[in-house]
This record gives sequence, C-alpha cells and structure tokens, in this order.
Amino acid sequence: MTKPNDQDLFVRRASLILGLRQVGVRDRDVLAAIETVPREAFVPAGLQDEAYEDRALPIECGQTISAPSVVAIMTEALQIEKGDHVLEIGTGSGYQTAILAKLARRVTTIERHRELYRTAERRFDALGLRNITAIHADGNKGWERQAPFDAIMVTAAAEKAPTVLIKQLDDGGRLVVPIGSEDDEQRLTLFAKQGERVEVEDLGAVRFVPMRPGTGGRS
Ligand code: SAH
Repeated sequence: MTKPNDQDLFVRRASLILGLRQVGVRDRDVLAAIETVPREAFVPAGLQDEAYEDRALPIECGQTISAPSVVAIMTEALQIEKGDHVLEIGTGSGYQTAILAKLARRVTTIERHRELYRTAERRFDALGLRNITAIHADGNKGWERQAPFDAIMVTAAAEKAPTVLIKQLDDGGRLVVPIGSEDDEQRLTLFAKQGERVEVEDLGAVRFVPMRPGTGGRS
C-alpha cells in the first residue's frame, strides 16, 4: 500500500464532501470544518490510504475513529454557534474534537485512555488548534467544574440516558449521545434543554464502542 500524495488527498477530500452532501448533510459550516481538518493526520500510519473513505477505522487501544458521515450528523445536530463551549466525551483520535474546535469558541474533551489522550494532544498542537483543553479522566460524570456547557457530545455508547450530563447543559443546550448496549442496537439521541423541559429526538441507528468506567490506567 502506498502513501497517498497531497493531490490524491485533495481529490479524495473533495469527493467525500460531495458524498456527505448527497447523504443530506446541509450545514455549510460543518462541511467547511470537514473540508479543512486533515483526517489523514488522525488515522494510524498504515491506514492513510483509507482516510477519506466514509467509514469508521480502527485506532489504538482497540477503539475507532468514527465515519465522517457520523461525525457530520452528530456535529450538525448540536447546532454549534461561534461563542459556544462544547464538552466532548471520548477524544479517541481527536478528529471529532478538531471538527468541533473549528466551530466553537472552546472545546473541552475527555479521554480515559492515556495513550489516546497524549497522541490527540500532540495532534492538536501540530495543527495549531489552541482552543482545545484535553483531559485524561473518566468522562462518565461529565466535567462539573466547567459546567454548564452549550453543547455536549458523547462519542461512546451509554447504556441509558446520561442524566448527569443533561444537568451540565446550559439553558438552550444540546446533548448528542449514542444510547444502547455493546451488542444491541444503539440509537443516536439528541436532548435539547429548554428551561425545565428536555426534548428528546431519535436520530437513528448507530454503532459505537461502549463507554467504560474509570480510566484506562497506563494504556
Ligand atoms: N471521537 C472519537 C471516537 C473515539 S471512540 C474519534 O473521532 O476518534 C470512543 C472513545 O471513547 C474511545 O477512545 C474510548 O476510550 C473513549 N471512552 C470510553 N469510555 C470513556 C469514558 N468513560 N470517559 C472518557 N472516554 C471514554
């Protein structure tokens, strides 16, 4: 397998954007963010050739980088505005974090595996993304000390609706999270907080690695 050159990557990225439009991604800011973040910088060295395929790819620690269309749908659902502070749980490769960082004022991202957290932080530095705070911790309880957030994205599957995260949303805030067990169907679910009310919307079936408790120790 050969390493793709810049010209190849340019063409592949353009055709990915076209494909995303065709599956119904309309938000121009989200498409522009996907167009500017080099996904090849977030996939393992041996998989560079597949960086612009619309599918999830394996990353370190047995985890996955989500398919670009899933990244687009989840990001679009959050309707991020320029002044927003976004919390992401499940940094993984850092690709989704980088997309959020292009749209929001500030992104706080939490990863339980130390190795993934470190690698992602190096990538943010290399790409000059300075509005990201990466944290090595268990994200199950969110990040109370910086709450409330304008938007929260969880990129690992929760067993049930995470009420603790809904509490950390500001009034008017949105939370997107896959809900379901590892083997069963998971539903991508959007919660929108309006005063005391929380509206829930089902965004369809998805497949994510599960949320795990605690931190991944040295790994
Ligand atoms: N958004 C990532 C997807 C990574 S897969 C990307 O684009 O690459 C999901 C990630 O969630 C994994 O890295 C996994 O380690 C992490 N994760 C699972 N449970 C967690 C928890 N309780 N706290 C923080 N991160 C968690």
